[in-house]
Amino acid sequence: MVGYVVYGRGSFNQLDEIVAPHRKVGKPMVFLVDHFFDGKPLINRISVRGNDKIIFADVTHEPKTTYVDKLSQQLKDEFGTISGVIGIGGGSTMDLAKAVSLMMNNPGSSADYQGWDLVKNPGVYKAGIPTLSGTGAEVSRTTVLTGPTKKLGMNSDFTPFDQIVLDPELTAGAPVNQRFYTGMDCYIHCIESLEGTFLNEFSKSYGEKALQLCRDVFVNKETWDTGCEEKLMMASYAGGMSIAYSQVGVAHAVSYGLSYLLGTKHGIGNCIVMNQLEEYYPAGVKEFKYMVEKNNIEIPAGICKGLSEDDFDKMIAVSLGMKPLWENALGKDWEKIMTREKLRALYDKL
Ligand code: NAD
Ligand code: ZN
Repeated sequence: MVGYVVYGRGSFNQLDEIVAPHRKVGKPMVFLVDHFFDGKPLINRISVRGNDKIIFADVTHEPKTTYVDKLSQQLKDEFGTISGVIGIGGGSTMDLAKAVSLMMNNPGSSADYQGWDLVKNPGVYKAGIPTLSGTGAEVSRTTVLTGPTKKLGMNSDFTPFDQIVLDPELTAGAPVNQRFYTGMDCYIHCIESLEGTFLNEFSKSYGEKALQLCRDVFVNKETWDTGCEEKLMMASYAGGMSIAYSQVGVAHAVSYGLSYLLGTKHGIGNCIVMNQLEEYYPAGVKEFKYMVEKNNIEIPAGICKGLSEDDFDKMIAVSLGMKPLWENALGKDWEKIMTREKLRALYDKL
């Protein structure tokens, strides 16, 4: 779990104080900032001291192991080691920051650690500051990476941030569609956790609260206001906590295949899949469709049109590889329920 959480509108202004105790003489603090903020006023609010470095994270594509390896190698070559890394951005930037922190202290490639509990050493100090709400990457014990053979996180006890700063103000400028897709990631985390076989009181407590906050924002509110920013930031946090002790489910397992083959982004990919999951989450999908309509969002369709059999096979292989997700969703006998043919038919519908 994240040991140290600062929450509040404007709390970003405390960043300098927050990182101060973690500075090591001669070693820089690295601020890995979502490239959206390049040239924006937020950058002037970062106190750059000594040999500190601001790196703009290119999140045109979601994080790849090759990009993590490149960033961490550059920092090793330039500084040997660093005091810490502060990830400021959406889920992609936060995941990059977590992975770079780990790779500063672990040998080889980040691809070697895609899986469960493979990371050997703690990383350097790492803090996360979300600028989009929904992924829960700020609290999770994973960093989702696309590697040479799979899209899978570095899941480990060393992966969570040491510190997070939750400042709802930072999410104010997010485009409406992006805000919705990433917000729905949280909604889908809740449905998948609450409807899953791994459910327990810990996950339920957080999942129910996160679900209520999502509903407040996307179902009950007529217009977007600062209160929505605050609620969605806490929904993301609680949704992430909910899956920390359970798992996600069908939407994520299927969406990972899309993302691996087509580069479909996490939030929108989950929405594309959720739109077709009545059979698995009937009430959740009904409400999801209502939110799509109410918030005037378009969910792309027909994205698998024209794909070859080989393409479908690749997506199916990636998806069926997500065993814990399927087991959570469908139980121990999931392989009898989600056959290749059934999954092929589902991909066809997307
Ligand atoms: P993102 O980080 O990929 O960003 C999406 C877009 O929004 C980018 O173009 C970015 O530049 C822009 N952006 C970010 N903040 C903005 C702001 N305040 N205003 C305007 N634009 C802004 O999107 P995301 O949905 O937050 O994250 C998705 C990523 O998170 C995926 O890589 C996914 O795999 C990962 N993820 C991780 C976990 C985890 O537990 N580690 C969980 C879910 C998803
Ligand atoms: Zn997700």
